[in-house]
Amino acid sequence: MRKIYIFDTTLRDGEQSPGVNLNTQEKVEIGLQLEKLGVDRIEAGFPAASPGDLAGVDAVARAVKNATIIGLARSRERDIEAVSEALKHAQDPCLHLFLATSPIHRQYKLRMEKHQVLEAAEAAIKYAKKYFSKIEFSAEDAGRTEIDFLVEVTAMAIRAGATVVNIPDTVGYMTPDEYGNIFKTLKEQVPGIEKIQLSAHCHDDLGMATANALAAILNGADQVEGTINGIGERAGNTAIEEVAMALETRQEFYQAKTSMVLKEIYRSSRLVSKLTGMVVPGNKAIIGANAFAHESGIHQDGMLKEKTTYEIMSPDTIGLKESKLVLGKHSGRHAFREKLVDLGYELSEEQVNAAFAKFKDLADRKKQVADEDIRALIEEKLIETPEVYVLDKIQVAYGNQTTPSATIRVKIQDGGVAQESADGNGSVDAIYNAIDKVTMEDVELEDYSIKSVSHGKDALGEVHVVLKQNDVSVQGRGISTDILEASAKAYLDAVNRLIEKRKTPTSNRSNVTLI
Ligand SMILES: [Zn+2]
Repeated sequence: MRKIYIFDTTLRDGEQSPGVNLNTQEKVEIGLQLEKLGVDRIEAGFPAASPGDLAGVDAVARAVKNATIIGLARSRERDIEAVSEALKHAQDPCLHLFLATSPIHRQYKLRMEKHQVLEAAEAAIKYAKKYFSKIEFSAEDAGRTEIDFLVEVTAMAIRAGATVVNIPDTVGYMTPDEYGNIFKTLKEQVPGIEKIQLSAHCHDDLGMATANALAAILNGADQVEGTINGIGERAGNTAIEEVAMALETRQEFYQAKTSMVLKEIYRSSRLVSKLTGMVVPGNKAIIGANAFAHESGIHQDGMLKEKTTYEIMSPDTIGLKESKLVLGKHSGRHAFREKLVDLGYELSEEQVNAAFAKFKDLADRKKQVADEDIRALIEEKLIETPEVYVLDKIQVAYGNQTTPSATIRVKIQDGGVAQESADGNGSVDAIYNAIDKVTMEDVELEDYSIKSVSHGKDALGEVHVVLKQNDVSVQGRGISTDILEASAKAYLDAVNRLIEKRKTPTSNRSNVTLI
């Protein structure tokens, strides 16, 4: 059976999703989970974008040992050098170079003729050879490039020394038949094509990203690029969990497999959703909350008699299992620790202690603590952002006939305490106005969302906010059994991240075009 290489770009293309802004610790946490998931290659970022982006790629390269780490570069010497610098500590570094090839990009973006594109790409690959033995070359907007020219570009990339040639459908325009045909043609017409790997990179603008990637596999692609949960620029990328499960479930048809550890899919999906703030829709294939739920009576009846009547995949395969052990107020340390193991967490003694204290606190407020609650508790503290401000006390006065007001008291890192009160249009607005007075940060609330972690009136609420200051956006998260407290925590978390972020600036990405 053929092996299909999985190139994960959650940390690069995924991180380009509007509103997503991961800090270095979050990138490392996702990188380590991708390593557990068994992806072959991890694109960790675009180092030339800013010192912050370079530092993020460097941190992932140091932490992750069992995957090739890739950095993206435009076909410029400075970009290539930045990737080389960022991947100094990678066990298995790879450069990802790109240059646009389609007529529309040549004419309007590059203002270059075909021969100039060929020369520029060739020069960049040859220059990169000084630094890298593994080089992937992407013909940006390959989907809309004349096939004859794409054959020429691919042949040039092979001669110049590329080891992987990527055929991105940058704008999500292709249909599966058309996209598959590109691979078929390249396989037939490019001299030396057997020396390199061909890669598929698709976007979901027409909802065909996964279908296109699978069509590429059927026509000879060796590698598929994509992201966890399919996040990414605009409508997103191919969801790698969909590709992995399609190959697994329809093995006889595709005759191809990946090295992915399928039971890590669910945890990877949760982590990425949590850290990016991008909620997975309930009906999302493979990992949506309803993907394995059966509502109709006929289905339920069939499922009880024989699962395979309506179930083509088992939730166990992706690591989704409901355990029988329910915890509550009287559950002890031992039961709690057992639950953590059951849910697949490997935590240090110190982390278990901290989590247990929070669990006890929650069990006092909530009768039954669901698995989802425990996951939320653990994940809340997975990433340690340095906390300049910590919520100490919150008091809110609300009535539909009066102006809402809030008083906030916070502990400050240097040991002080500050308290302020403010009015607002609503309770959350009043809280945020009070926090603004305490922190004296001039910020704009760009996004606010709230969701319930588990079921029932006493469920944990999780708030996600995006704050903007000048052209820098940061996100923040907070959880609590009370949504106003969760709102305050999320806002303070974002302010803390903003302060942290000033120390290593990252780019304003809007002026950088990427594949
Ligand atoms: Zn892309």
